[in-house]
Amino acid sequence: MKYKPVQNYINGEFVSVEANHLDVYNPADGSVISQVPLSPKSEIDRAVEAAKKAFPEWSATPIKERVQVFYKYKALLEKNLDELAALVTEENGKVLSEAKAEVLKSAELTEFACSLPQITAGEILEVSKGVECRIDKYPVGIVASITPFNFPNMVANWSLPNAIALGNCMILKPSELVPLSANKIAELLKEAGLPDGVLNIVHGGQETVEAICDHPAIDAVSFVGSTRVAKIVYRRSTSNLKRCLALGGAKNHLIVMPDADTEMASSNIVASMSGCAGQRCMAASVMMAVGDVEHIIKRMIHYTKQIVPGENLGPVISKEAKARIESYISEAEELGAKILVDGRGTVVKGKENGYYVGATLIDYVKPNMRIAQEEIFGPVLVIIRASDVDEALKVENSSNYGNAASVFTESGGVARYVTEHASAGMVGVNVGVPVPREPFSFGGWNESKFGVGDITGRGSIEFWTKSKKMTTKWNREAGVNWMS
Ligand code: NAD
Repeated sequence: MKYKPVQNYINGEFVSVEANHLDVYNPADGSVISQVPLSPKSEIDRAVEAAKKAFPEWSATPIKERVQVFYKYKALLEKNLDELAALVTEENGKVLSEAKAEVLKSAELTEFACSLPQITAGEILEVSKGVECRIDKYPVGIVASITPFNFPNMVANWSLPNAIALGNCMILKPSELVPLSANKIAELLKEAGLPDGVLNIVHGGQETVEAICDHPAIDAVSFVGSTRVAKIVYRRSTSNLKRCLALGGAKNHLIVMPDADTEMASSNIVASMSGCAGQRCMAASVMMAVGDVEHIIKRMIHYTKQIVPGENLGPVISKEAKARIESYISEAEELGAKILVDGRGTVVKGKENGYYVGATLIDYVKPNMRIAQEEIFGPVLVIIRASDVDEALKVENSSNYGNAASVFTESGGVARYVTEHASAGMVGVNVGVPVPREPFSFGGWNESKFGVGDITGRGSIEFWTKSKKMTTKWNREAGVNWMS
């Protein structure tokens, strides 16, 4: 094994765990690169104790001092870009350029955290003569962040810099499929000066997550992952009276009008469905082809055929994911859909044991097929035909999910109509991956997100803080009034 077994990070130290371990794979060649512990509840107890010890001093440190750690951390992310990106590629599979973009996005998220003193300055108003109301934000306390496999570096940095800069102490539970990047993040934060115990990392799976949801000293839980697990975590955390924000899966519809710019639409849609091997919650999954868009589909076939697995397309995360994705394609074919570009059975020379699925385009899919409704999470785009924009919106609106939607058109009126009527939290016009960038916040609708607030940007501030409302009167001339 290239790396020694992964350790938990508690109170500023890496510690071994007595527990069953799972193998960690490099999806590009199927080799075992490390092992990860399935931490029991007692590890969460240890992490909570460390966080509780650190909390009084960290939460009492002025925010302008707290963010100094993140200025240094951002510089360290940039300085260590190559090493961090290589680690993401190794454990997740995405190609190096994608891994670098992920780490640079972590730096952008950290930049936002550095601006929190400016953004969260309190509010004050003289509400009647001599009487002032003021609002201050306080950290929630001990918080947890549970993350998925698809962005081992970035999704941890969705929650971590904001939550910690706002004065909370955190327990991070990374995906057991990609545990290595998180520990590197801990090393960099220590180097940046984060006090011991403010961040703790406990590796594991279901049992570890359940211990987080149940622990009485954990005040808030953020989760990013599949809708199935988001529901479990949301229900369990809130039934234990914690605040919870749980982001789930996605099925993103791109509506393509005949007047769309052919080159922009075709290249952007293919990039959106195939980037990170389709393992992005913002990936294009369904193209709603409105009217005659044959010229655009023709160019999409051209661009899809230019994608070379092993070069500009990474593997999917596991053998099981590859089999699942290929079975969706086969089922659609059996039901009468037309495969325009077929990525099944892809083998990359020299990486025969890698979990590759080639980029796939499937036309004439019907809205009631499983492939049109369920999240595939692979480089697969289905095309559903619609005669007008209302029919396209009806299909989009009937999805259980609601992460992202986009429209490709040159008509401002159509763009406005779609952005107003799409049932999704993040909508785009002529954008394949409509990710809001800071200070705008990230979060979907429907079964793509449970809870109030968003996971990044301004929308996350309420989640990571509690507000204190103060009313004060110091001068006698305020006299006696209804507030006395
Ligand atoms: P997942 O739900 O399988 O795992 C996410 C986390 O939950 C992991 O840390 C895992 O250990 C834990 N977990 C798994 N099963 C559990 C169980 N039964 N009980 C408690 N905890 C459990 O998700 P994944 O496969 O790692 O990630 C892919 C999914 O994440 C996709 O559905 C994707 O759309 C979604 N995702 C969503 C967003 C978003 O912003 N909405 C962002 C990234 C990924």
